[in-house]
Amino acid sequence: MNKTDFGRRLRLWFRRHGRDLPWRQTRDPYAILVSEMMLQQTTVAAVIPYFERWMKRFPSVQELAAAGESEVLSLWQGLGYYRRARNLHASAKKIDGDWSGKFPQDYEGLRALPGIGDYTAQAVRAFAYDEAVPVLDANVIRVVARLFDLGTPVDTAKGLARVRGKLEELLPAKSGHEFVSALMELGALICRSGRPDCLLCPVKEFCRARHPERLPFKAPKVPIKKRTELAAWVWDGEAVLLQQSTARRWVGLWRLPPLDGEPPAGPAAELTYSIVRERVTLRIHPRSEGDLSASAEPRKAFSLRRLDCIAIPSPHRRAITKMIQNVVDHG
Ligand code: SF4
Repeated sequence: MNKTDFGRRLRLWFRRHGRDLPWRQTRDPYAILVSEMMLQQTTVAAVIPYFERWMKRFPSVQELAAAGESEVLSLWQGLGYYRRARNLHASAKKIDGDWSGKFPQDYEGLRALPGIGDYTAQAVRAFAYDEAVPVLDANVIRVVARLFDLGTPVDTAKGLARVRGKLEELLPAKSGHEFVSALMELGALICRSGRPDCLLCPVKEFCRARHPERLPFKAPKVPIKKRTELAAWVWDGEAVLLQQSTARRWVGLWRLPPLDGEPPAGPAAELTYSIVRERVTLRIHPRSEGDLSASAEPRKAFSLRRLDCIAIPSPHRRAITKMIQNVVDHG
């Protein structure tokens, strides 16, 4: 494959068809980091309003570093996976405190920030510093696997190494920002998972995929586990009792108090949500505070008005909305 011709075709297409996303209008490494953290496991459309709100409230590392955790988590509310917000906050504190506000530029410096893996470090280098480095997100992996008709599962170390090697063959000597953005955009708009739009593809003459719809290959899936969580609805007509989690998943967030043991008898509302490799059914049982077993975690009753100002995990916020709707419907 002639990489110069490939890169030219790709860039020309991107200049005409690439989307005008807010984080593509900046080279500020902090803003790029915020967008990349938000985009993990979340769609572009969902991230845009969060990104704009966040950058308005915390326009710089210094402003984020100075903020309290509850405000940070509250602004993140609805995006899920709160660990990303905590890591972003911790990174800002580290840059502002330990490194006197100087944002790291090299790979090792970026990887030293909390929660920054290979993908995010390379993305910041490409988008903020214009370096031509391999940025391996799902779109890029799919496009490269198809361009080279790769038969090794891309979710294995060996498969990913092959994708990285092929991508490095394609990278230009400089101007990584545009090249990487264009490759990602091709994956998002044309070379989509499932059925790609090969007829519209600007680089189809370079593509070796014989059955692109079957690529990329993946290793057999680990089955999804089903699990039930029980929570108490303690409501005095004006306020709902919440418990602040100290568990790793939702540390610091306020949720409905968990109930231990077997599902209790009596009416319950339920909803489902997904976390990594698990489908969880959350069952909510009306209880009085005296029914709850003692807990080391703090409990507090919040009026409906105050619920908007505290960080609550999304499934529990949905549960609260559902229970309040029940109260309104049935008196
Ligand atoms: S020709 Fe089809 S499979 Fe190949 S890169 Fe383009 S869209 Fe993807």
